[in-house]
Amino acid sequence: MSYKNFPMVPRVIFGRGSFNQINDVLAPKRLNAKAPFVFLIDDVFKGNSWITSRIELAYDDNIIFISSKEEPKTEQVDKLVEHIILTSKERPSGIIGIGGGTLLDLAKAVSIMLTNEGETKNYQGWDLVKNPAVYHVGIPTISGTGAEVSRTTVLTGPDKKLGINSDYTPFDQVILDSELTKDVPTNQWFYTGMDCFIHCVESLKGTYINTFSETYGNMAFELCKQVFLDGNLAKVEAQEKLMMASWHGGMSIVYSQVGVAHAMSYGLSYLLGIKHGIGNCIVFYHLEEFYPEGVALFKQMKDKYNITLPQNICENLTDNELDIMIKIALSLEPLWENALGKNWKKTITPDKLKELYLKM
Ligand code: NAD
Ligand code: ZN
Repeated sequence: MSYKNFPMVPRVIFGRGSFNQINDVLAPKRLNAKAPFVFLIDDVFKGNSWITSRIELAYDDNIIFISSKEEPKTEQVDKLVEHIILTSKERPSGIIGIGGGTLLDLAKAVSIMLTNEGETKNYQGWDLVKNPAVYHVGIPTISGTGAEVSRTTVLTGPDKKLGINSDYTPFDQVILDSELTKDVPTNQWFYTGMDCFIHCVESLKGTYINTFSETYGNMAFELCKQVFLDGNLAKVEAQEKLMMASWHGGMSIVYSQVGVAHAMSYGLSYLLGIKHGIGNCIVFYHLEEFYPEGVALFKQMKDKYNITLPQNICENLTDNELDIMIKIALSLEPLWENALGKNWKKTITPDKLKELYLKM
């Protein structure tokens, strides 16, 4: 057997207020006056000078505000790349993503597509990227997805929801400043935070588990429990711990895989546009038979913060729509194999998934 050789983020800054160092970090990376830095920023920060005033724009540098209402699409990446090429004198010096998983994934994808020919959808898959990406920096403003550390960028294309998984995908630089997460609304904090918790459960309870993934997974799992159950943490401490939980949770799945909740949540997202965090919560709530202890803890945390989840979302779907969702979920074979082992097809049938989806 041959072991995978994974790249990691080579440079990280951690600390409250460390976002102030952004200009010093970028300065030596400027290629020349014609090659701008392009900042992709969640439009929730539009008009919020607390963030933007700290960015010193020079020459042709520019900020593009992007809505994260919908998850990234391959077509959206194509349009952004075209826009950047048309408005820049030279290939950019760097792409800086500031926001949650949505903006981080867009920044990764754009930096790849600036140096690789053709359409983004052709790179959805594993190791299809030929040329190194433009220098790219990730600055998370909400914690949980692990997108800041992962080797993928999850994109919805015309016929599949699948990441660009490649050695060129990880960020060249990450800035972890927990202060940037201070205004995340409670519901969203919970949904995205639970993405991390679910990463840990699916990684730790999966058949692909190994000591590398287990050590990171255990650490993230502990941190999630402290943040979401203990309730005695000071605000700043809780924000810092969740930020590191996200990081460790992401590191855990680098060398293992996610499982049932993610497979089924991809189906919900593809058909109904339900976002990753909340979609995972909707699914995970019904997965007692696969993850009994994890689901019990999840329900405790959900009750503690009075989170209500949408119900009966599949009730009015046609058989045809259900089939599409089931097909998407079943196509994620490594996730099922990790969750249930090589013989997963014996228990996970289209009928079984239909029964589960109809509970959600
Ligand atoms: P998100 O980026 O979609 O943002 C969720 C919401 O939180 C948005 O409304 C956003 O405006 C808001 N928000 C973000 N920061 C805020 C702040 N500081 N204050 C107030 N509001 C803020 O959320 P997410 O859950 O981080 O990301 C989900 C995306 O991440 C999905 O597209 C999913 O596919 C992707 N994902 C990627 C990976 C990966 O490894 N690449 C892993 C998991 C998920
Ligand atoms: Zn996830």
